[in-house]
Amino acid sequence: MNIILLGPPGAGKGTQAARLVEERNMVQLSTGDMLRAAKSSGTEMGNMVAGVMDRGELVTDEIVIGLIEEQLTTADAAGGFIFDGFPRTLAQADALGVLLDKVGKTLDTVVEMRVDDSALVKRITGRFTCGNCGAGYHEEFKKPRVDGVCDECGKSDFKKRADDNEESLKTRLMAYYKETSPLLGYYYAKGQLQSVDGLASIEGVAGSIAGALDTVS
Ligand code: ADP
Ligand code: ADP
Ligand code: ZN
Repeated sequence: MNIILLGPPGAGKGTQAARLVEERNMVQLSTGDMLRAAKSSGTEMGNMVAGVMDRGELVTDEIVIGLIEEQLTTADAAGGFIFDGFPRTLAQADALGVLLDKVGKTLDTVVEMRVDDSALVKRITGRFTCGNCGAGYHEEFKKPRVDGVCDECGKSDFKKRADDNEESLKTRLMAYYKETSPLLGYYYAKGQLQSVDGLASIEGVAGSIAGALDTVS
């Protein structure tokens, strides 16, 4: 099954994608993670997108479509793909359709995670991740079991994203409403959109997503 998790920054896409990877053997394709990896390893493309990302603007369609194409043609996903943070524009959505056709795959459903803007600020400003294994946490909503130590890998190397501040979040939210929210209508018209309440607990949201996936499997 190939699915898109759609929602504003901080909606919980990465958190839920990580669970689906564990539980369903799916492969997460996060363009944000791919771009951050390029940025931190200092590739030419990474250096080019660094400023744009820190400000919270969107990277060009050409770059992210290229990243997805590379993964779709090389990654082996028995359980299917989870598109997380992609597509973010109508051009990217069209390109994804063409790419899936090319590799003989289909998009099974799009799950919108609905969250208020006011909750997003809290989600984003409290977010941190393990620098070693990438596990995601929150200062209030998802603390490590032992303070300062990663549940998954036992390391004490937490970091915050350069763009997780209120200023950049404003730009990212604006980009979401201007460029990404039209995708809700786009996938609704294709009969592929389902919505879940992203304000529920992490467990609760996982349950709603499982229910949404059951309707197409
Ligand atoms: P979040 O998880 O907060 O929604 P992401 O990790 O998905 O953020 O993305 C971080 C940044 O990477 C974005 O603000 C944007 O600059 C860039 N980016 C990620 N995916 C895309 C995309 N599909 N199109 C354009 N820019 C992207
Ligand atoms: P996205 O990938 O959509 O930007 P994340 O999955 O990184 O969002 O979640 C943003 C922050 O909110 C993280 O710190 C995460 O631990 C926390 N979070 C995710 N889902 C929930 C939830 N349902 N309730 C409370 N906090 C959550
Ligand atoms: Zn870790």
